Amino acid sequence: MIKRLLPALVLITILYSCNNEQKENKNEHRPKLVIGIVVDQMRYDYLYKYSKKWGKGGFRRLMKEGFSFDDAQYNYVPTYTGPGHTAIYTGATPCMSGIVANDWYDRKLGKMVYCVQDDTVATVGSFSSAGQMSPRRELVSTVGDMLKLSDEGKSKVIGISQKDRAAILPAGHRADAAYWLDDSTGNFITSTYYMKFLPQWVMKFNQEGRVKKYLSAPWYPLYLPKNYTESMGDDNAYEKPYKTESAPLFPHNLPVLMDKNGGCGLIKATPFGDDLTKDFAIETIRSENLGKGDETDMLTISFSSTDYVGHQFGTESMELEDTYIRLDKDLEELFNFLDSYIGKKNVLVFLTADHGAAINAQYLMDKGVPAGYLDEKALFAKENEFLNSKYHGDVALEFANQQFYIDFITPSIVEQTHLPINKDSVEDEIANIAAQWPGVERAIPAYKLGAINRDFINTKILNGYKASRSGDVIINLLPNWLSYAKTGTTHGAPYDYDAHVPLIFWGGNIQHGASPKEEAITNIAPTVCWLLHISNPDGCMGHVMGEVGKR
Ligand SMILES: [Zn+2]
Repeated sequence: MIKRLLPALVLITILYSCNNEQKENKNEHRPKLVIGIVVDQMRYDYLYKYSKKWGKGGFRRLMKEGFSFDDAQYNYVPTYTGPGHTAIYTGATPCMSGIVANDWYDRKLGKMVYCVQDDTVATVGSFSSAGQMSPRRELVSTVGDMLKLSDEGKSKVIGISQKDRAAILPAGHRADAAYWLDDSTGNFITSTYYMKFLPQWVMKFNQEGRVKKYLSAPWYPLYLPKNYTESMGDDNAYEKPYKTESAPLFPHNLPVLMDKNGGCGLIKATPFGDDLTKDFAIETIRSENLGKGDETDMLTISFSSTDYVGHQFGTESMELEDTYIRLDKDLEELFNFLDSYIGKKNVLVFLTADHGAAINAQYLMDKGVPAGYLDEKALFAKENEFLNSKYHGDVALEFANQQFYIDFITPSIVEQTHLPINKDSVEDEIANIAAQWPGVERAIPAYKLGAINRDFINTKILNGYKASRSGDVIINLLPNWLSYAKTGTTHGAPYDYDAHVPLIFWGGNIQHGASPKEEAITNIAPTVCWLLHISNPDGCMGHVMGEVGKR
């Protein structure tokens, strides 16, 4: 009897344990909620530059408990917001993702197009056109897309930011929602790409009128001015005041400034835009019950005010330092909320930036550091003067993202003269003029890209180049040369100040540590996918950084 029962018992035991193993295998060690945080325009060195100001629960907690990749680098140019957010979440550089810049010249349409603009969809949540946006120009899938594909769409994936592109591109094509700020109303809105009506909780959040509340008082620094030891004095020549301000000085009288500085949109260029984003992020997690279902959910958050304040006041300003001090408190509040809501062991957080920023070039020149300003208008005029004299108006030029786009406008004239214009020659001619111009480090005709030597700059140019969307002659500037106003600052270059960003992972699966190894920004997406046990996004060019933790 026992002999007869034994095989059956063994079989039952095996079946039972297999079943159990299957269950455990799928969800064991898998976080319930992934939160990607992008701090717009955050240079790597800010982590340490401002570290005396960090409280216990924000940046310091990430650095103390998480795993930091200390040499995370953008591996393409141009280092702009649209391409940056895309590369983080797709693992693809612009040559693959198609997001070659924020705006580029569309040869078929004969005009500039914006990376998330989509006239086939309508705004949801406002009567403005600010919602006519979608991820359709992003040619590859995101981590969120792969998550949705892995479980028949049961995971929830949501992207939020003040900037449309910073909400839409990270969340991807199958996202449940992306929300961004409508300047005219101060409301978070979306588009019919995602839904027909705003959820009740978003409408309720909007009705609270938080933007106007945040802008109802002047912006005073959080501490006494003497404590801003990591910045220049408040009154310096390298900052750009808000419109109608006589000087870039604290306190900035926001209620008065609103009128001539974009109304509710002014909040973007103040630290309160990040406070608002934090409020909305917590409300999104709570109202959508993110991380509380059977599958893993994902929220992408982009803090944009750091970028607007950086552009306005520059990297050395009290305003920027104050913005980071306040962002640190926002992060602390968010992490504290996660502790009580779901617990650190159930989350995977990563924090990085979409690009860095140059130090104001005039300031560098005044300190004796090689730097300068490209006279973009004069260069453009010089190129046009040459083309007009040689081709008599048959060749038109556009200039965007430090690239020349060539258009042949009147083929009929070319036919009349029986002198077809050789495009390669025109590219050579434009490149030759540009290469002589002050501040230009190199100018490359696109037709030569296939054969160029792959040095540090050319590799980044190739990774950022997509023939159908990029220009015909690509210019690279010398280090610290900017095409920008002499106050405030900008970004876009291949150099460390624009390419080197923080990258910290934190959560239940992540061990404490740091790596000094150079890692491409395109390694983030495959690492997150590895931790989630899902396939990489389809255009992914990076590899897993396994030292980050266990899966
Ligand atoms: Zn940006």
